[in-house]
Amino acid sequence: MRDENCIFCKIAAGEIPSSTLYEDDMFRVILDLGPANAGHALILPKEHFKDVTELDEAYAAKILPLAAKIGTAQRKALGADGFNVVQNNGTAAGQTVFHFHAHVIPRYDTDAPMIAWEPGKYADGEMEQTAEKIRKEM
Ligand code: AMP
Ligand code: ZN
Repeated sequence: MRDENCIFCKIAAGEIPSSTLYEDDMFRVILDLGPANAGHALILPKEHFKDVTELDEAYAAKILPLAAKIGTAQRKALGADGFNVVQNNGTAAGQTVFHFHAHVIPRYDTDAPMIAWEPGKYADGEMEQTAEKIRKEM
């Protein structure tokens, strides 16, 4: 299924040009137009899923191996020291295009941390209460 109003559906289908790194019957991998570092790639399924909660299992099973293949190529081709695999779900998490995509970002030892947080602390009992709330919804 595709969404006629979705830019990533059009890019994945080849209707809007992109710098394509890889393509098969299920995915197109393109360069991000606003890269965190040169070579920043986006894995786009050719079917429309708004985020990871809608992602079909057949697609899900292929995404991490594909990310590993891209990250390995970024290391070899660009001399990257590592790579991040990042995937945002919902506006609060930074998602701006609501067609599932995974970012594969080449990283260098000199880069500032990309995902950093100040470690917090739970009040007494809060950690177990939080775990229980989440478990009940699974
Ligand atoms: P996210 O914030 O996870 O939804 O990521 C969306 C990403 O898509 C951003 O990093 C944008 O730079 C990128 N992007 C948006 N439009 C295009 C486009 N037409 N071609 C390539 N990358 C795009
Ligand atoms: Zn789409």
